[in-house]
Amino acid sequence: MSRQHTVDFEFVDYIPELLEEGIVYIAPQFSAVMHLCCDGCGARVSTPLHPGQWTLTFDGETISLSPSVGNWELPCKSHYIIRRNRVEWAGEWSSERITRGAMDDRLAVSSGTEALEHSRVSWWSRFRDWLRRLIA
Ligand SMILES: [Zn+2]
Repeated sequence: MSRQHTVDFEFVDYIPELLEEGIVYIAPQFSAVMHLCCDGCGARVSTPLHPGQWTLTFDGETISLSPSVGNWELPCKSHYIIRRNRVEWAGEWSSERITRGAMDDRLAVSSGTEALEHSRVSWWSRFRDWLRRLIA
């Protein structure tokens, strides 16, 4: 496994079944963004675009994702920021921050991953369920 220091990106209609390492796939129609974990572990990482989740910035040449990508759900527990096509590796997360972050982002990541395997209608119903759980 080797850490990547740059990424490329591709705007797509649908997130492809097979992802290539080092490419951030962006499906604007579904607000879906997915890439393979930047430490080379091969895990699919979903960073859905939504207020309160992730924001994608495209400046015409490069992309940035905000906030950072914290893969504490994965064995690798990698944590990095994608800024202007560069991968900035962040420090270790304290367990307190992981717990706090996971409350928001575990839902975000799992709901985003499932969304890609279902139709758009199903995506919205899942998303609504997820919102309801947040509010409840
Ligand atoms: Zn990883």
